[in-house]
Amino acid sequence: MKNFTFTVMDKIRNYINGELIEPLAGHYIENVDPSRGVVYSLIPDSDASDVALATKAAKEAFPSWSKTPKEKRSRILQKLAFLIEDNLDRLAMAESIDNGKPLRLAKTVDIPRAAANFNFYATGILHYASQSHAMEDVAINYTLREPIGVCGCISPWNLPLYLFSWKIAPALAAGNTVVAKPSEVTPMTAYLLSELCIEAGLPKGVLNIVHGLGQKVGAAITEHQDIPVISFTGGTVTGKQIISVAGPMFKKLSLELGGKNPNIIFDDCDFEKALKTTVHSSFANQGQICLCGSRIFVQRGIYEKFRDAFVEKVKNLKVGDPRSEDSNLGAVVSKQHMEKVLSYIELAQQEGGKVLTGGHRVMMEGDLESGYYLAPTIIENLAYDCRTNQEEIFGPVVTIMPFDTTEEVIMMANSTTYGLASTVWTENLTKAHNVAARIHAGIVWVNCWLLRDLRTPFGGVKNSGVGREGGFEALDFFTEPKNVCIKL
Ligand code: NAD
Repeated sequence: MKNFTFTVMDKIRNYINGELIEPLAGHYIENVDPSRGVVYSLIPDSDASDVALATKAAKEAFPSWSKTPKEKRSRILQKLAFLIEDNLDRLAMAESIDNGKPLRLAKTVDIPRAAANFNFYATGILHYASQSHAMEDVAINYTLREPIGVCGCISPWNLPLYLFSWKIAPALAAGNTVVAKPSEVTPMTAYLLSELCIEAGLPKGVLNIVHGLGQKVGAAITEHQDIPVISFTGGTVTGKQIISVAGPMFKKLSLELGGKNPNIIFDDCDFEKALKTTVHSSFANQGQICLCGSRIFVQRGIYEKFRDAFVEKVKNLKVGDPRSEDSNLGAVVSKQHMEKVLSYIELAQQEGGKVLTGGHRVMMEGDLESGYYLAPTIIENLAYDCRTNQEEIFGPVVTIMPFDTTEEVIMMANSTTYGLASTVWTENLTKAHNVAARIHAGIVWVNCWLLRDLRTPFGGVKNSGVGREGGFEALDFFTEPKNVCIKL
């Protein structure tokens, strides 16, 4: 295990053209440890000039990287995956400090998944094939799949290295070069990744990581004329801004946006399994996973029994030091986010909601006393179409509502502008298929949650996004198809 300690004020640097460098203007912004509410490092406050430098490096690296045999690209990316695994403890600690998430979660989910992303696409590219279409006795068509050029990858704070690598890995495996921007709220593991890229022997300029604010760095990536592809994960409002700039420039866009996912529990479910998983799907990572089920619909026959058992279990969850083994929830990501979540709890009460448990900030002691902790919160008695049930809160807050019929719950589940994920609990297979087919969502989990096969298409419908990540879908996105038609 490698040690990981922060000096009083660590300075993160940009990774451009294979080197770790200061932002050109020399400005920095503060990076806060949300578990303690203190500034612990500095992030480059980069601007368009840093993005221009990174894009130039990526553009110059493209001809060579795109022509590098895929076996060689694969080996370098597998080495990177290996280095991530080798640095698991160090990276997990960094993720926990930066984000406030339980160290245990970072160790078992975030960092292993980041390594898996690189491994998956490093090997996936070796099996990626294009199609051919024969026109009997007339012609044969085949499709060339070529890397596109410099790709812009912009990611959020909730699963920092996990989602950052989920974009970068397929882009690089397909032979593109990348200008990437992690969230300014959680930049540390992306910075540590840049050190590992150097160790892995990734050629200069193939991956460039520019740190800073969305409005400056993200916007500069979006509007740069030499970046024809943008892969973005984040909020729906930001997604709209990106479309408004990149759309008229005819950039290729993949947008993974917000959600307001329904969790539908029929009275013929396996009660204990549904209960246990619902605690997890509601409050994992402090409810800050785009796939968390934030609207829980329970069929009337088991509503009271389920509600009471659920409240009981949630009351027993421990909010505590993210570094303690027994903490179920750590800190939420920032003061600003904590205040946003609290404002939604207030709104819910104004809308007639009854807080069954939680509903408040949790004050800690000692060096955690200024940290941003929230009690897991369950709210009842709200109409399915009120603001609390329609808008994304993205914190440890769920609502619970009874329903009578399948028709009614499908109507309520589909009533939001979002359509990312959903969960259905029933032992009746016919019902499961029927409901799964009718829910407006990119993913339907039946009798499980967050079970991921990286080969499957991942993404949302409606305001939850455009396009799909995962499997060969991502390699399709990061390549340009060209039809070649040969007359026989
Ligand atoms: P955000 O939209 O505020 O920020 C995401 C990224 O975009 C950050 O790196 C940010 O700096 C950058 N950004 C901000 N303004 C920009 C601009 N004008 N141009 C370009 N880039 C800009 O989102 P967030 O608060 O970091 O993350 C939470 C949101 O992400 C939630 O809505 C959540 O549902 C969503 N999310 C979606 C998925 C998914 O797969 N669908 C996964 C995780 C999170």
